[in-house]
Amino acid sequence: MTAQRPRPRPLPHPAFICSILISLALPAAAKTPVATGTGGAVATISEPASQAAMTILDRGGNAVDAAVAAAATLGVTDPFSCGIGGGGFMVIYLAKDKRVITIDHRETAPASFTPGAFLKDGKPMDFDTVVASGRSVGVPGTVRGWHEALERYGSMRFRQVLAPAIEVATKGFTVNENFSHLVAGNEAKFAMFPATAALYLRNGKAVPPGTTLRNPDLAKAYKLLAAGGVNAFYSGGMARAIVDAVNAPQVAAGVRVDGGNMTLADLANYEARLRQPVHSTYRGYDLYGMPLPSSGGVAVAEALNILEGYDLKAMPRAQAEHLYLEASRLAFADRNAYLADPEFVDAPVAGLMSKEYAARRRELINPAHASARAQAGDPYPFQNDQSVPLRPSAGKLLPEGAHTTHLTVADKDGNIVSYTYTIESWGGSGMVVPGYGFLLNNEMTDFDFTGPAPNVPEAGKRPRSSMSPTLAFKDGKPAFSVGSPGGATIITTVLQTIFNYIDLGMTMPQAVDAPRLSERNGMATDVEPGFAGSAQALALEKTGQHWSQEPEEIGAANALVFNPDGTVTAVSEGHRHGVGSALVQKSAH
Ligand code: GLU
Repeated sequence: MTAQRPRPRPLPHPAFICSILISLALPAAAKTPVATGTGGAVATISEPASQAAMTILDRGGNAVDAAVAAAATLGVTDPFSCGIGGGGFMVIYLAKDKRVITIDHRETAPASFTPGAFLKDGKPMDFDTVVASGRSVGVPGTVRGWHEALERYGSMRFRQVLAPAIEVATKGFTVNENFSHLVAGNEAKFAMFPATAALYLRNGKAVPPGTTLRNPDLAKAYKLLAAGGVNAFYSGGMARAIVDAVNAPQVAAGVRVDGGNMTLADLANYEARLRQPVHSTYRGYDLYGMPLPSSGGVAVAEALNILEGYDLKAMPRAQAEHLYLEASRLAFADRNAYLADPEFVDAPVAGLMSKEYAARRRELINPAHASARAQAGDPYPFQNDQSVPLRPSAGKLLPEGAHTTHLTVADKDGNIVSYTYTIESWGGSGMVVPGYGFLLNNEMTDFDFTGPAPNVPEAGKRPRSSMSPTLAFKDGKPAFSVGSPGGATIITTVLQTIFNYIDLGMTMPQAVDAPRLSERNGMATDVEPGFAGSAQALALEKTGQHWSQEPEEIGAANALVFNPDGTVTAVSEGHRHGVGSALVQKSAH
């Protein structure tokens, strides 16, 4: 059957938001989206997750340990955004070595995949039908990614870092408005799968705010990891349960969904990748971001390179924002045309990221008027290796929301983690693995359904992502970290936050809280509820910019700023997604 599109309603007014009433090792403190101090710092969208990170830092763990602890807790409190049924990208700064490394643990297509995976009778299948089915599920990478991060750069093991999350899953947490709202937007999808309905629905309706929600099955899954390590996920009973859930989904009476074709070998052979970060410069900052298969680092760098040619600080805000939108449009045309899994496609990354190529792209911008949809450029002359076989194709613009989660942690020794992870759509495929309490991703729908295109499905390939965890340095010292959820809007949220902070001179909390304008080379720029008609909108409309008012907020960013006086400021959302949670180890009063 076709799943009803889980069209989310606008998120609730902040006045409705109640904080999650769980306390871990720390005494209860008022939830705050901004905190400044010394020692370690963390910003996530969930209070229990930020507290889990603090607990681990206080117990002597480093930023990597704390990031995994926070991520595991988000898997309990924000299960529709992320979890061990998905994957992600982690950027790590190792202070002692002064090196940035990245861990790609993106979901991977099972060996059964072909370029026709999402075609029926030569035509693309219905998107939502594929989402809520076994076909959309990629081999999850999260647990392998956490394992690699801890083994190589952490100081603790699963047993220690999963403890706070196990406690939250066991004792329960209080469902807030945001959580309940997300379930309400996905009732039809969740009702298709009894294991999901049992966890998140009550008589077919969203679990109401104020409910204490426990997830003993997920606590059990985490305990299995704590006892058995990474292999407890990729082989044995949990692996069999995943394969069964994907290939023969357990559905409610009368419901029919397609199964996938994933094998135990697909799980056993899953590998995370350590990848060289994407490095670019912008007005004296060194930026490190995620390389392919995420398009995030390259697209953010290209747009910033285009913007660098303008004296934005000297301009009226509307003029600078017009240029931001135009630069983003051009970068997206290239991102859609060229970028895909680097193990399958030789994308022209060096060309796309060169300052010379950016200068060519800049020539296409009219400072006084918005352009129509942009064509992809020709980056090949700007890179040495020109062996790029694939014909560019215009990518389809899919609806994007605030799916996914981003968190960032620093420790007292100066190590930093910027980590974005996901199960793709809200609630992923909608399928909870029976007996294990976690949702399976629908990441395979990040492939293009039709080709020819670099990002078509193939066996063992990772679909192109937009996740953009970013670290910025100035004069060799950490300056800030930033990242966001939100599908392809992740790129524009990270880009706009950097632009707000560096070019518009906003503080980081202002840069994060400002209205988001997401130009992805579509027919109109996506904006958040309430933007159209504002003075800022009217000023931009003078250059011909126009809007598509989205029903949802865009993104839920988290950032750290490393201040010149040695303190660090953790910054989360001041009003989006139920207000985020920023904590520091030692508060600066
Ligand atoms: N699948 C998306 C990506 O990797 C993230 C999920 C979302 O935020 O929609 O770019």
